[in-house]
Amino acid sequence: MRLPDYAIEAEGLAKVYPGTKTAPPKEALRGIDLKVPRGSIFGLLGPNGAGKSTFINILAGLTIKTGGTAKVWGVDIDEHPRMARASLGVVPQELAADVFFTPRESLDVQAGLYGVPKALRQTDPLLAALGLTDKANAYVRALSGGMKRRLMVAKAMVHQPPVLILDEPTAGVDVELRRQLWEFVQGLNRQGVTIMLTTHYLEEAEALCDTIAIVNRGQVVACEPTATLLRRMDSRAVVITPVQPLASAPGLGPLEGRLRPDGRLAITYKPDQASFEDVLAAVRQAGVAIKDLATEDPDLEDVFMALTYGDPNAADPTKD
Ligand code: ADP
Repeated sequence: MRLPDYAIEAEGLAKVYPGTKTAPPKEALRGIDLKVPRGSIFGLLGPNGAGKSTFINILAGLTIKTGGTAKVWGVDIDEHPRMARASLGVVPQELAADVFFTPRESLDVQAGLYGVPKALRQTDPLLAALGLTDKANAYVRALSGGMKRRLMVAKAMVHQPPVLILDEPTAGVDVELRRQLWEFVQGLNRQGVTIMLTTHYLEEAEALCDTIAIVNRGQVVACEPTATLLRRMDSRAVVITPVQPLASAPGLGPLEGRLRPDGRLAITYKPDQASFEDVLAAVRQAGVAIKDLATEDPDLEDVFMALTYGDPNAADPTKD
């Protein structure tokens, strides 16, 4: 079979969650167009509530789309759902450990679910690749958080899918384990596995991804090679602690500010478009009395805000 040019393809992918008695219907995806080239490590970034999990769940066959088309490894998820699913491994965000199994049993059960014949199972090589050989026969509940996470990656790979999706693979893990996981992901990629991952760490996207797509409010707002996108994102943040707590971010002329959950006001600006002086002047103009002030690299939410500023449909990350 000819290999597909794209590991994942979505066109006009839409999802409306039906309303309930207390909540109106929710348009989570509003026409996602995305092509993930075969062989890439592709980053899917976006503020909370942007629609990343919904997108992943549709590909994995866990959520039913309400519009558009999607293909995994060249296979349409409507026409051949089982074949599409067989090409995909998904590592979910939550640690869902099978407490009654050992890692070896857990991988065997998973391989059984995917119909992998005993003779073709890769249980021991997978355990070794993820540094779990020592713990192969320990109870899963006795594993550390990092080990459980690695076991989940191994579980997603039992049927040797050509496409692997990792949802926030290193959320809450320490630096050392993060690097180990990065190396493992890069190793898989060198062996030909296409990777798509979501992350909240700009550093992680920068270290791993060759291409990054940014999703906001159910639409792709940017999709570019990592280096190009990061250049566009080159921005600084001035973080202000106001004397009086603010109810909302004040208008700052051409600059944009975001009220962080801790009550501080983050103002993101591009050094080539505004100066620190301009920022201070705008804050004074808005009548905000400054108690304390710091400059820092913006976090991803600030950057999303800067990228989507001026878009009437842009999400307000403080709401949702
Ligand atoms: P992300 O993964 O980027 O944080 P999600 O895909 O989880 O975003 O959510 C996208 C939007 O859809 C959010 O507004 C969220 O509240 C809503 N949503 C997600 N799951 C459901 C559901 N089962 N029912 C109703 N709304 C949902």
